[in-house]
Amino acid sequence: MNDIVLDFYEAEAQFYKVLMHPLRLAILDLLREGEHCVCHMEAVFGLRQAYISQQLMVLRTAGLVEVRREGLNIYYRVTQPKIYAVMDALRQLTQKEPTFPLQPVDVCSCPSCE
Ligand SMILES: [Zn+2]
Repeated sequence: MNDIVLDFYEAEAQFYKVLMHPLRLAILDLLREGEHCVCHMEAVFGLRQAYISQQLMVLRTAGLVEVRREGLNIYYRVTQPKIYAVMDALRQLTQKEPTFPLQPVDVCSCPSCE
């Protein structure tokens, strides 16, 4: 492959790599309904905030989500809703849809749950 061809597909592959992570996919699904704070994600996924923030940073660097601070809370929202067309296309291939709610499993004290 020449450099132009290689660069094109390398850039596409890098983008798919952003999606190639279970928590990043789950976060994007959670954000379909709108913005959520990191503390809400902690309660939904039952994972440490540091780990969630690490994956949010990958999504943010890729330009898929943006951050908003309000008081002590940090909210994330999807900036490119077209990403859901990609995720939905995959689900057409696998013929699998989530059959579970993405709701807090622990007590959530975020502003939208209180
Ligand atoms: Zn909450």
